[in-house]
Amino acid sequence: MAECLFCMIVAGKIPATLVHTDDEVVAFRDINPQAPVHVLVVPRAHYANVGEVAAADPALVGALVSAAKSIAAAEGHEGSGYRLIFNTGADAGQTVFHAHLHLLAGTGLRMTMA
Ligand code: AMP
Ligand code: ZN
Repeated sequence: MAECLFCMIVAGKIPATLVHTDDEVVAFRDINPQAPVHVLVVPRAHYANVGEVAAADPALVGALVSAAKSIAAAEGHEGSGYRLIFNTGADAGQTVFHAHLHLLAGTGLRMTMA
């Protein structure tokens, strides 16, 4: 989608700090990090949210999680732990409607409902 922010990052039209790329997935550092490590893992293909990814291409959900696992390991947090979040829809706080997996690590991560 021409006007989609994350499609533009995938296409290299907007700069981002890339930490992983492969045939299906691109990962880059969040511009407003909520933890010492905060990476967004996105499919190259445009889907509005992870539910749409799951419906169209379930294996791609696995590819996103596998990439996040590899990045957590590369950043030194596979043993200490990390959190993966898919905000899905407005009530979950989704603001960018190109599916993305948040990888958070590097501090004590408390669970909140807000
Ligand atoms: P969400 O609220 O789940 O839709 O998450 C969107 C995330 O995208 C937020 O954490 C933003 O900080 C992040 N974000 C927005 N614009 C950019 C950008 N240009 N580069 C990297 N991350 C971004
Ligand atoms: Zn997109």
